[in-house]
Amino acid sequence: MEYRLLGRTGIEVSTIGFGAAPLGDVYGHVDAGEAMAAVQEAIDSGITLFDVSPYYGRTLAESRLGEALVGRREKVVLATKCGRYGVDEFDFSAERITASCEESLKRLRTDYLDVLQAHDVEFGDADQIVEETIPALRRLQEQGKARAIGITGLNLKNLRAIASRAKVDCMISYCRCNLMVDDLDDVLMPFAKEQGIGIINASPLHMGVLTEHGVPEWHPAPMEIREAGRRVVELCKAHGVSAPLVGLRFCLEHPYVSSTLVGMASRELVQANLKALSFRIDPVLLAEIETTVAPVHNRIWPSGRVENQG
Ligand code: NAD
Repeated sequence: MEYRLLGRTGIEVSTIGFGAAPLGDVYGHVDAGEAMAAVQEAIDSGITLFDVSPYYGRTLAESRLGEALVGRREKVVLATKCGRYGVDEFDFSAERITASCEESLKRLRTDYLDVLQAHDVEFGDADQIVEETIPALRRLQEQGKARAIGITGLNLKNLRAIASRAKVDCMISYCRCNLMVDDLDDVLMPFAKEQGIGIINASPLHMGVLTEHGVPEWHPAPMEIREAGRRVVELCKAHGVSAPLVGLRFCLEHPYVSSTLVGMASRELVQANLKALSFRIDPVLLAEIETTVAPVHNRIWPSGRVENQG
């Protein structure tokens, strides 16, 4: 396993991070025992970063992860979120953020978080995030409840705009640095580097677009994007490799991203994804993937409030 520092937080994270959204049955039903085994396998393999949220399966993912981490808490960098609780349920008030942190601590069976981030800030009022949410996170940090604080979201300009008004330690950007979309470097990365903000890149498989299984029902991508993903999956198969392996490896090659969060809930997927550490992408295949993706390259779907797009 390889490790990198998360910006200037002093926290070291594994370059492959365990995305725990699937533990909340977000991508289909998961066997609880297998989910526990996946967490154990990941820890035994050197994965340290575990990312979850109360939103994933309406607290199910946090509860399962908490159970799986009993006796192993000190081996991991535990990251959760606050402010998002359902598809359309958001509350970024200081009061809710503070209560949410306590609830997450209980479910995760710990007395501190390594990272606590406001979840999908483009759904909130930017002034509230800057003036109320981030200050509330800072107070929790001062109380020792979270070692680092930050924001997450899809819209890069919105993340940058918020972080330029209220300092954060780290951010999660998702679906903006993978084989389908790679504008993270254009919009957010120069700012993040300059400010020393740690960047975690989530959804290397474009939330299932780059898998044989395909996307879950809730996936927001239009049909053209899903079809392009399907063609990439077929192309990789024709080259004798799996698209997830290529997709994850592509992300791991980013020089600044601290960790790439990939969603997994079985030992089999943990083992498959670890192979990306030593895998090399055939440049011929990569060029063919680029051509395949070209018609939808960097096309993203709207997310959040109208004023927070971009
Ligand atoms: P992803 O791109 O990691 O895709 C997950 C899907 O791919 C799941 O169905 C999983 O079973 C499948 N998969 C994973 N490895 C595979 C393999 N080797 N072979 C075949 N299928 C494989 O999407 P994600 O899970 O949404 O993103 C990763 C994590 O990032 C999440 O679990 C979550 O922790 C985090 N995340 C955060 C935000 C945010 O903060 N706003 C948004 C998205 C994701």
